[in-house]
Amino acid sequence: MNQLPDALLCIDGEMRPAEGDKKFDNICPWTGEVVGQAADGSASDVEAAIASSRKAFDETDWSTNHAKRIELVTKFAQLLRENRDTLMQIARLEAGSSIGAAAFAQVDNALTCGEDMLKCFEEIEWQEDRGVREFMGGKSKRTVYHTPLGVVGAITPWNVPLYVNIGKVYGALLAGCTVILKPAPDTPLMGSYMGELGIQAGLPKGVLNVITAQDPALAGEMLTRDHRVDVISFTGSTGVGKRIMENGAESLKRLFLELGGKSVNIILDDADDFAMKVMTGMAVFHAGQGCAMPTRMLVPKSRYEEAVGALQMAYQGFAERWGDFDAPDQVMGPVISKRQHDRVMGYIELGQQEGARLLAGGKSRPDKGNGFFIEPTCFVDCTNDMRIAREEIFGPVLCVIPFEDDEDAIRIANDSDYGLGGGVHGSVERATAIARRIHAGAISVNSGMSITGDLPFGGFKQSGMGREWGREGIEDFLDTKVIAVGGQ
Ligand code: NAD
Repeated sequence: MNQLPDALLCIDGEMRPAEGDKKFDNICPWTGEVVGQAADGSASDVEAAIASSRKAFDETDWSTNHAKRIELVTKFAQLLRENRDTLMQIARLEAGSSIGAAAFAQVDNALTCGEDMLKCFEEIEWQEDRGVREFMGGKSKRTVYHTPLGVVGAITPWNVPLYVNIGKVYGALLAGCTVILKPAPDTPLMGSYMGELGIQAGLPKGVLNVITAQDPALAGEMLTRDHRVDVISFTGSTGVGKRIMENGAESLKRLFLELGGKSVNIILDDADDFAMKVMTGMAVFHAGQGCAMPTRMLVPKSRYEEAVGALQMAYQGFAERWGDFDAPDQVMGPVISKRQHDRVMGYIELGQQEGARLLAGGKSRPDKGNGFFIEPTCFVDCTNDMRIAREEIFGPVLCVIPFEDDEDAIRIANDSDYGLGGGVHGSVERATAIARRIHAGAISVNSGMSITGDLPFGGFKQSGMGREWGREGIEDFLDTKVIAVGGQ
C-alpha cells in the first residue's frame, strides 16, 4: 500500500515540524500498519498557532476585506478540487474509507458542499441601515454591522475529516475570522494538507493554522481555555462537547458544537416500494461512522415480518460486498481504529445481552486484513429503552424497532437524548407531518437530501448547538454591532 507524506504543522504561513521534531504514527485502518508520520505538536506549538491567528485577526485587513476573502477562499477551494486524487488517497489510507464512500461523501460531496458555501457568501448582509431616529432629544443615524467573531479554534473528528474541516474552515474564513484547525489524531494529514493548500492559495500568514498532535486533548484544551481564542467550533462526541462547554465557561467562549446522533429512519406502512425502502436503510455506509446516519429503523408492526425479511435479504446480499480496498463501488471498509473496533464489538455483545435478536453480522472479521473490520450488523426486535437503541455506536450496526401507529413512531423518534438527522418514508403529506414533529435538525422525507452545502446543518438536544454549512454556517461566525451617529 502507498505511503502517505508526513503531516506537518501549518503555523504562521509555514509548513514545519513540531517542536523537537516529535512525530507520531499515522495508522491505516485497512492494515493496522503505519502509513505515514505526523507532527506531534507541543504546548509551545499550540501557543505559536494561537499567537499567529490572533495577530492575523487583529493586525491585517482579513476581517474587513470582503473582496480579498472571497477571492482567496475561492482559490483555496479550486486547489482542493485540483488535488482531488490526493484527497482520495488520504481519505482511503488515513480515514479507512472505501472508494465508493470516499468518492461520495468523503471527498466529492465535501468539495461540492464547500463550493456551495462560496455561493452563500454572496447572500450575507454585512450591514443594515436602520434609519435615523429621534430619541431622548437627539437624532441618530443607526447602522447594524455584522462583524467576524475573531479567532476560531476548529476541532474536528476522524470520520469524514475533509467534509468537517471544510465546513468549519470555509465558514469561519468567509466570515472574516482566522482559524486554528485541530484535526483528530487518527486523521492528521487531511488537516495538514489543507494547511499546505491554504498557503499555496495565498491565504495571509496566520489566517489558517493547523496543529496536529498525538494527544487527543492537549491542543483542544488549550484552545478552549485560552482567552485569545474567541470561538470554538467543535465536531465530535457529546462527552467531549460537554467538557468543552465546561472549559469554555471561564472565558465565556462562543461555542458551536456538532455532536453525536441516534437518528431515526421511519418507514410508514404506505411507503412506496416498502421492501426497497427498508432494504436501503442498512447502516453500512463508511461502516456506520456518520453522525447523522439513521441507525434506528422504525417499522410498523402491521408489516414487521415483511420488513425483517427484506432486511435479511439485504444483509445477505451485502455480506461479502464490503471490505475490499480496491473495489471501486464498495461503500464500506473497516472502522477507524482498534479502540473503535473494540467499542463497537462491545455494543454488539451488549445488544445480545439486552435481548435484541441478531439478524445479520455481529462478528469481527480479521480474515479481511489486519485492520479493524466488523461485519455489517443488524439487530431486530429492539426496544427503545435498550442501550443499543439509545447510545451512539458509530459502527455498522442497525437497530430495528417496531411501532404501532404514527403517534407511537413520533414518540419513539423523540425519546432520545439526540436530535441530529433522520428520515421518514411514506405518502408525502403524512410523512412530512411526522417529519415536522421530530425534534432534530435535518430530516429527509422519501430520501430527500437534507444535508447539502447550501443548507444549515446541526443538532437539537444533545446533538449540539449552532449551525454549519449554508448561509447560517457563515453567519454563525459573525457578531452583531450597532453604530449610532448623533447630530443628524
Ligand atoms: P471525540 O469527541 O473523541 O474527538 C473529536 C475531536 O476532539 C478530536 O479532534 C479530538 O482530538 C478532540 N478532543 C478530544 N478531547 C478533547 C478535549 N478535552 N478538549 C478539546 N478537544 C478534544 O470524537 P471522535 O471519536 O473523534 O469522533 C466521533 C464522534 O464525533 C461521534 O460521537 C460522532 O457522532 C461525532 N461526530 C459528529 C458530527 C456532527 O456533525 N454532529 C460529525 C462527525 C462526527
